[in-house]
Amino acid sequence: MGFLIIRLIIFILVFWAGYRIWKMVQQAKQPASPPARQEKTNQAGAPMVKCDYCGLHLPANESLTHGAHLHFCCPEHRQHFLDGGPLNDKPQRQAPRKDDPDHH
Ligand SMILES: [Zn+2]
Repeated sequence: MGFLIIRLIIFILVFWAGYRIWKMVQQAKQPASPPARQEKTNQAGAPMVKCDYCGLHLPANESLTHGAHLHFCCPEHRQHFLDGGPLNDKPQRQAPRKDDPDHH
């Protein structure tokens, strides 16, 4: 009878060892912690700035700057701003086209 019990114990030990190995393999397959979304964190942490030309909000690291305080969403808006000033303060310098006195 003792022989049978020893065989039973060995069988259980082998089964248990196999179970432990199987668990280790399963753990090795999938990472312990889910991958952190660093991109999202960076975007959320970036300060938002406003385009001084069109008022669009965008992350500071994606904006174009001029001087210390001016931010723009694109080079075109920076150029427009430097050329003509902000939209709401745009000087209307359109030469009024009247009848040409020399040309009769
Ligand atoms: Zn803009």
